[in-house]
Amino acid sequence: MENCLFCKIIAGDIPSTKVYEDDKVLAFRDINPQAPTHILVIPKEHIAGVDELNAENAAVVSHIFVKIAEIAKQEGLSGGYRVVSNIGEDGGQTVRHLHFHILGGKKLHEGMA
Ligand code: AMP
Ligand code: ZN
Repeated sequence: MENCLFCKIIAGDIPSTKVYEDDKVLAFRDINPQAPTHILVIPKEHIAGVDELNAENAAVVSHIFVKIAEIAKQEGLSGGYRVVSNIGEDGGQTVRHLHFHILGGKKLHEGMA
């Protein structure tokens, strides 16, 4: 997808600090971390957000969550962590390529909104 920041990261046109990669997903460190560990996990297929998921493209989400669990273990987040996906303008989504934030490494604030 042209002009999509995360598609450019997948293509290697924009550098990233990769944490995990396979043929379906990429995980990399957030450039502006909100917690000691802040990783983004994205599908390689361009899907704009949770609001663009459907029966044909949603299988990658279960794969992403298996990898989230593995990455969290690898990162030593044994005390717990948070997984967040912002959707659209009201949800605070700034990059319209589906992504899941892994946040951890400290006791996170309890509020969600
Ligand atoms: P969201 O606001 O949920 O759309 O999340 C987008 C996230 O992408 C933010 O947490 C940004 O800090 C992060 N981000 C933006 N540009 C980059 C980049 N070049 N490399 C890594 N993370 C980025
Ligand atoms: Zn994209």
